[in-house]
Amino acid sequence: MSRPRLMIPGPIEFTDEVMAEMSKPTPSHVDPAFIEIFGQALEDLRSAFLAGPDYQPFILAGSGTLAMDCAVTNLVEPGDRALVVDTGYFSQRMADIVRRYGGDVTLLSAAPGETITPEQLRAALAENAYDLVTITHVDTSTGVLTDVRGLTAAAKEHDALVIVDGVCAAAAEEMRQAEWGVDVYLTASQKAIGTPPGLGLLVASPRALAKWRGRSAPVGSYYSDWGYWLPIMQAYEARKPSYFGTPAVNLVMALAVSLRQILDEGMENVFVRHVLLSNAVKAGVEALGMSQVPTDMAHAAHTLTCPRYPEGVDASFLKMVRANGAILAGGLHPAIKGEYFRIGHMGAASRADVLTALGAVEAGLRAAGYPVEPGVALAAAQAVLS
Ligand SMILES: *Cc1c(COP(=O)(O)O)cnc(C)c1O
Repeated sequence: MSRPRLMIPGPIEFTDEVMAEMSKPTPSHVDPAFIEIFGQALEDLRSAFLAGPDYQPFILAGSGTLAMDCAVTNLVEPGDRALVVDTGYFSQRMADIVRRYGGDVTLLSAAPGETITPEQLRAALAENAYDLVTITHVDTSTGVLTDVRGLTAAAKEHDALVIVDGVCAAAAEEMRQAEWGVDVYLTASQKAIGTPPGLGLLVASPRALAKWRGRSAPVGSYYSDWGYWLPIMQAYEARKPSYFGTPAVNLVMALAVSLRQILDEGMENVFVRHVLLSNAVKAGVEALGMSQVPTDMAHAAHTLTCPRYPEGVDASFLKMVRANGAILAGGLHPAIKGEYFRIGHMGAASRADVLTALGAVEAGLRAAGYPVEPGVALAAAQAVLS
């Protein structure tokens, strides 16, 4: 089979077991067998986020943006003050959503490729009071990883609620929701969690639920209102039938399979595998003489790599990479869009995938007229992997 591997930062390659589940006949959303699967998926989502038993998972039909919208509409009341830790395109989307629901947004912005440290956040929180801090765990537009643990600790010192966009990080980057005290951690099915696009996933802390219960203004979105979804999620977990809006039945079944595969591997192993694969890709990219968007590898994501094009190469080279076996993504951050490309290596990604991608990049560079010795990137990656 000569299909090129899909190695963009989502959607990703899904396992055969997940894809087989997608093709099963669609059961009723109140079929006892489906209720069991949905209930188990909710429990497994809580486990994958290392959240406590009193944390509430939500599985909704929609993309990652819906998960962001859902967190914000339930937790922000008009006039609430939000500090948005801004590490790129998706942080700015979060800021737009907060504004849409009446929040008063202050951006704490990093230059593209830079991160925001807990010390910088502490300084901003000392200047003004905020109800909410939002953080993008991995900003997919820059490949920048934030220190969610440290940033959350700083926000807690100032009693602010913390929403983390983990769409390009969940089930890949280390994250311990209960231990770190993240109030809402959210993701989408098509990234590292390993299920085709179409589900927004959130886990809310008891503190987040208390803030939502104490609202005086109604929730701004009808569809996303936890008032409708909380009883549904509780019913599925109690293995009881219920209905508000029809769940994406086949996707939930596929998610249940993927979550089981992730938990069978074990979260600690999942975190370590992503670091290893990422180190291999980054070593290969470096061996090819390319620099990367993150200014320091200490704050580079382990779910994707963002190499800068070498001299004389541009986005047209991605077609040649594809012809050599891997589909990669172009740049996304508006300020540097034409300067870099993105290699996704999350979810079920394997050593073979990483070597395929690097081999395709080498071949693509040669086809684009940039001289590279065959095997240089592969050798560097193999040295990391072995
Ligand atoms: C992909 C992504 C989103 C948006 O998810 P969609 O499913 O495309 O709506 C949000 N935040 C981050 C960090 C992402 O990587």
